[in-house]
Amino acid sequence: MAQEEIPVLIVGGSLVGLSSAMLLGHHGVPSLSVERHAGTAIHPRAGHFQLRTTEMLRQVGLEDEVRAVSLLTYHPTGGINAVESLAGREIATYVKELNEGVEGFSPTVRVFINQDVLEPIIRRRALELGATVRNRTETVDLDQDDSGVTATLRDLDSGAESTVRARYVIAADGNRSPMRARLGIGMEGYGELSRSITIYFRADCSQLLEGRNQGVIYVHNPALRGFFRLDRSGGTGFLVINTVGEDVTRPEAVNVSDGLTDERARELLRAAIGTDEVPIEVLDVAHWRAESNVATTMTVGRVFLAGDAAHVVPPNGGYGGNAGVQDALNLAWKLAAVIKGEAGEALLDTYDAERRPLARLTVEQAYTRYATRVVPERGMDDVEPFVDDLTMELGLVMRSSAVIPDSDGEDDGALHVHPTLARGRPGTRAPHVPLGENRSTLDLFGRRFALLRALRSPDPQVPDDVDDHVIDVDGFADAYGISAEGATLVRPDGVVGWRSRGAYTGDELRSALDAILARA
Ligand SMILES: Cc1cc2nc3c(=O)[nH]c(=O)nc-3n(C[C@H](O)[C@H](O)[C@H](O)COP(=O)(O)OP(=O)(O)OC[C@H]3O[C@@H](n4cnc5c(N)ncnc54)[C@H](O)[C@@H]3O)c2cc1C
Repeated sequence: MAQEEIPVLIVGGSLVGLSSAMLLGHHGVPSLSVERHAGTAIHPRAGHFQLRTTEMLRQVGLEDEVRAVSLLTYHPTGGINAVESLAGREIATYVKELNEGVEGFSPTVRVFINQDVLEPIIRRRALELGATVRNRTETVDLDQDDSGVTATLRDLDSGAESTVRARYVIAADGNRSPMRARLGIGMEGYGELSRSITIYFRADCSQLLEGRNQGVIYVHNPALRGFFRLDRSGGTGFLVINTVGEDVTRPEAVNVSDGLTDERARELLRAAIGTDEVPIEVLDVAHWRAESNVATTMTVGRVFLAGDAAHVVPPNGGYGGNAGVQDALNLAWKLAAVIKGEAGEALLDTYDAERRPLARLTVEQAYTRYATRVVPERGMDDVEPFVDDLTMELGLVMRSSAVIPDSDGEDDGALHVHPTLARGRPGTRAPHVPLGENRSTLDLFGRRFALLRALRSPDPQVPDDVDDHVIDVDGFADAYGISAEGATLVRPDGVVGWRSRGAYTGDELRSALDAILARA
C-alpha cells in the first residue's frame, strides 16, 4: 500500500493542535491531526480568551458564534477579584471588568468560554477548511531527513501501526509532550509550582454571588488558595485549588493532589464556599501540575513545538492556551508560504526567533500573577515586574528576519510596548483602525500580505502576492506611525513586517517583501 503523504502532521488534537489545523486550512494547506483521546477536551480548563485569540477567531469567521456561546455560560462583564470565601468578605480586585479599557484597541472583545466548549467549534471549522482529524490515534515515532518526516502512528483500538510522510510536523502534544522528549528538548524556568486540583461541582451559590462581580473569583483563606469559575446561574462551576493551609512556604501546602480523598475534596470546596447551608455535589476532580517553564528551543529541523509542549504557565491570568494560539497564528502562514513555494525555507527559522522570547516573557508574567495572587508570602525576589494585560496581548514585539526594522529608528530591544505607543512599529500587531460599521483594518489581514497606504501615498508597483489598500480614514496614518506619503506592509498574521514612514518606491516594497519571505 502506498504511504500516506500530507504537507503537515499535527501531533495533538486539543486547543493548539486544532487551532493550527484550522489556520493551515484557512491558508489552503491540508493537515492531519492525530489525537490519543476519543474527542476534544472533557474538562473546561482554559476559560479566559484574550484579544489576539478572539481576533484570530474573527478572522476565520467564528467571532459571533463564540461570543454567543460564551453568553450561554458566563456574564460578558465579569472581572477578576478575590474573596475570603463566597460567603465571606471581598479582599481584592485585580481586574474590575474583563473588557475595561479595551474599547478602541480592537474590533472584538475578550471572552469567557470554556475550552471544552470552544474546542468542538474550532474542530468543526478546521474540518470545514479541509483538515483531517484522527482520534484514538497516537504518534509513537518521528524520523526526519532532508526532505520530510516519517511518523509512525498507532491506532489505539486495533493496535495497528502505520506510517505517514509529512513535510513538516507541529508537536502540539501538551505539557508532557512525548515529541519534545523524543527530540531531546529540555525545559527551563521556575519548574513545578504545585500539584493542584480542580473540583467540578454543582451547588446553588446564586445568593452568595448577588452583588458580586462574577468572573474569576480568587479565594484566600486559612484552608486554601485557588479560584472559582461559576456559570451565570451560580449553580455549577469549578474550583481550582493551588495551595492548602496558611503557610504556603511548606512543601505540603503545594501538594493538594497526592492522597486526596473524596471527603477532603468536599471539605475544601465547603471552605471555599464558606457556608454549610448550600448543598454541594462534587461531579469530578482533575489532578494537574502547575508549572512555569519554556522549551530550550521551539524548532528541531522540520518539527515545531507549539502550545503547552513549548511553554507551560500556571493558570493565573489565562495565558497558557492563548499563548499556544499565538504560536499557531505565527507558524501557520509561514508553513503555508513555504509549502506553496512562495517563501524560502529560512522563513521557518523565524518561528523560534519570534515566539520563544515572547513565550519566555509570558511564562515570567504568568509567574508574576501566580506569585502576587496566590503565594505573596514567598517573596518577590525572583519575580519580574508586572506588565499590564493589554500590553501582553497587543504590545508584544517580534524580532527576526521576517521583520524589517524602521530605517530611521534605533532598536531599544524591548519585548513589549503599550499599544498606545506601538503605533505600527515593525514587529508589533498592526493597529485596529475602524473602517465603518463593525469593520476594522484587522479585517484586511489573514490570508495574504496587505499593503496599507494613506491617500497621498504614491501608487507603487504592488507585487501580485500583496493586497493593496488605500485607507481614506482620519487618523489612519497617525495610528500606523506613517506620513500621508508612507505605507505599511502587514503579514498574514497581522504583524507589521515593514513600513516606510515617508515616500517609498515599488523596489523598496518588493525588496522588503522578498526579505521577509526569505526569497533569494
Ligand atoms: C485549571 C486550568 C485553567 C486554565 N485556564 C486557562 C485560561 O483561562 N486561559 C488560557 O489561555 N489557558 C488556560 N489554561 C491552560 C490551557 O488549558 C492549556 O494551555 C491548553 O490546554 C494547551 O493546549 P495544547 O493543545 O497545547 O495542549 P493540551 O490541551 O494538553 O493538548 C495536547 C493533546 O495532545 C494529545 N497527545 C499527547 N501526546 C500525543 C501523541 N503522542 N499522539 C497523539 N496525541 C497526543 C493529548 O491527548 C492532548 O489532547 C488552564 C489550564 C488549567 C489546568
